[in-house]
Amino acid sequence: MLENLPAQPADALLALIKMHADDPRADKIDLGVGVYRTGDGATPVFKAIKGAEARLVAEQDSKSYLGPEGDSRFVEALQTYIFDGESMTDGRIAGMQTPGGTGAVRLALGLAKKAGVTKVYLGVPSWPNHAQIIADLELETVTFNHAREDGTADLDAALNAIREAGERGAVLLHGCCHNPTGIDYTADEWSAIAAAFAESPALPVLDIAYQGLGQGMEEDVAGVRTVLRAVPQALVAYSCDKNFGLYRDRVGAFYMMAKSGDTLEAIASNANALARANWSMPPDHGGAAVRVVLEDEGLTAEWLDELETMRERMRGVRERLAAADAEVTGLGLAALAGQNGLFAMLPLTSEQIARLRDDHGIYMAGSGRINVAGLHDGNIPKFIAALADVTQG
Ligand code: PMP
Repeated sequence: MLENLPAQPADALLALIKMHADDPRADKIDLGVGVYRTGDGATPVFKAIKGAEARLVAEQDSKSYLGPEGDSRFVEALQTYIFDGESMTDGRIAGMQTPGGTGAVRLALGLAKKAGVTKVYLGVPSWPNHAQIIADLELETVTFNHAREDGTADLDAALNAIREAGERGAVLLHGCCHNPTGIDYTADEWSAIAAAFAESPALPVLDIAYQGLGQGMEEDVAGVRTVLRAVPQALVAYSCDKNFGLYRDRVGAFYMMAKSGDTLEAIASNANALARANWSMPPDHGGAAVRVVLEDEGLTAEWLDELETMRERMRGVRERLAAADAEVTGLGLAALAGQNGLFAMLPLTSEQIARLRDDHGIYMAGSGRINVAGLHDGNIPKFIAALADVTQG
């Protein structure tokens, strides 16, 4: 029986991690793995999280089960960073904690399927797991173009997808800091997207995995809020794994916004049933630590400060790369300054990516995606020189 299973392709990024680890060159550069790094290459635990964890250790008096919805105070505290205005008070939103943003995306699409959605419109390229989850749920993926070659978003493609999707369609959009391109919709483009959703029966599924890593906590969610204000119903998947640095603790949340409060309980009961069948309940620790941060003014201020430091650092790297536009022809580096978050896509050929690895010890995904946080004052000159080398032929 089990021997009938065909081998699956190895995860390309994991293979890259191993190649990088095995490379003896001292000045090698890892731009593959999608985690934030400081200027020293570290991915430290946030001080605000350390503070919250110390409190949890001192004060937590039970590890008895929670329900499938997880830590409801965490879910409520986080909700105020996502939703605003009337939607917060009119009783149309229910939320639950999930194992990471991945669990939230899984729940969103699983619930959409239960409600009758048969196809999911997905801007490409996208985070590879989006397509995998859609396929695993046996939903149809309909792709549309996310970005244009000039480094701006392809608004027309998104609007066409929303208009075409129909009542059995869901349209999945990244809330901010698009992975892998770093190209987000502008405020005007979000308004056009919101207006298109308002006239379409398609279900908006909004995936927010990097709030605060782009322009700011409020700024990064403004587009999502524009959509949420315009539509009767929507699903939101959220990850706290980047903006609280909790990656392995798997902290996420899933919110359902219903047409009316009357239907909310039934909708949430379906999400609960799905969570039960998938993982029963989410892991507690990371969500509890986020809850402690968000319920304490001092820790919240410390967390927002740490997030700002990360954001500014990545902005600085983007500006340095953009300033090298004239040195490296054909890669459009200037556009990076206007893009957001951890990632950018460089239009390199697979030969150029292999040369960066073999000749210069620079590791990046085969798609040309780089993690901008893998760069810092010490290695940016080398990176720019290597790009100039491989693009000159
Ligand atoms: N959505 C997007 C767009 C992502 O890039 C990621 C993770 N890299 C996730 C969701 C899931 O995040 P998590 O690690 O919290 O599962």
